[in-house]
Amino acid sequence: MEILNAYSSFFESKIIGRYLTSDRVFSILETYGDTQKISEIGTSVNGVSIKMVTLGQGKKKVLAWSQMHGNESTTTKAVIDLIKFLTQESRFQSQIETFLKTHTLYIIPILNPDGAKAYTRENANGVDLNRDAQLLSQPESKVLASVCKQLQPDLCLNLHDQRTIYGFETGKCATVSFLSPAADPSRQITASRKSAMLDIANMAVVLQNYISGHIGRYDDAFNDNCVGDAFQMAGVPTILFEAGHAPTDYQREETRKYICFSLLALLGFVPHSGAELEAYFNLPENKKNFLDIILRNATTGRRKKRTEIGIQYAEVLVDGRIKFVPRIEKIGDLSKYYAHKELMAQDAEILVNSQEKCHVGEKVATIINKKDNSVLYINED
Ligand SMILES: [Zn+2]
Repeated sequence: MEILNAYSSFFESKIIGRYLTSDRVFSILETYGDTQKISEIGTSVNGVSIKMVTLGQGKKKVLAWSQMHGNESTTTKAVIDLIKFLTQESRFQSQIETFLKTHTLYIIPILNPDGAKAYTRENANGVDLNRDAQLLSQPESKVLASVCKQLQPDLCLNLHDQRTIYGFETGKCATVSFLSPAADPSRQITASRKSAMLDIANMAVVLQNYISGHIGRYDDAFNDNCVGDAFQMAGVPTILFEAGHAPTDYQREETRKYICFSLLALLGFVPHSGAELEAYFNLPENKKNFLDIILRNATTGRRKKRTEIGIQYAEVLVDGRIKFVPRIEKIGDLSKYYAHKELMAQDAEILVNSQEKCHVGEKVATIINKKDNSVLYINED
């Protein structure tokens, strides 16, 4: 755990928040030590350079890519911290030297630079690159496929963010979820799938020390258009990482740390005794059972109907930063849902944006108690 305890020394404080572009990322990475090599591996729809960082000269080849979905930057922040750790020259030098002799690590920090700039999931043609693994219709998909073909990696890491809607039956939110994707519709445990499952089990054991109960397994329905499934089908062990919500951490700096810890554990920087396959299956499955905010025990409208209001933030890019805009997602009985923030109306009749009626999709500025005008919720952003 010594390396994890030293995290603050390789946390890259110049990169924070949710909005992360390729220009910004490489302006930082280029200042790091020369044990890394940065190369251009292709260009995006809009002609932006897609770059890869290479570290080490070892036999075991690990290929990781992040921000395939442009608005999913948490894992990019984590790989920047990892690269900073591997290129610094003051601490843990013998472990790093051993790693770089035995491994070659290829990292594509931003596979979808146009999506990153526009803060969209899709690329500039509006295509979800994680549904393009068979067609390879997009330049970014072709870049990843050709790099993979050329490098023949022993392990692939497919790095993503998941929305705040994911949690577990226990009522805890899904801070980090993993998946060893299926390689066929029957979801057989092939050799490569098993290998990825064991890697996940080992990372989960380390993470339990920090976020016990907040680590899960993503849905494993087979879809050969998904990159992870397609790679696994080709026999390359592939791990899906999903960086999720930690309580109050909308900027995802906490989760970033746990993704970095996972990567350090996976790459052998955290001593652990080998986990069993069972530990993978013991991870709880992700459920879509969370909302950002729920207002409970309210009454609305002329008929004084008892109801609950579920609010979800939309992430909107404004002047280079992400605004979290609250919108009504659900109205009604939300007893099956948990919320990152619970508000209690104590049976009060409420006004949403000064109106008696509210509707799904509506942006929320205020919710007040009609009787005494006390504020139940106000959007301060
Ligand atoms: Zn994603």
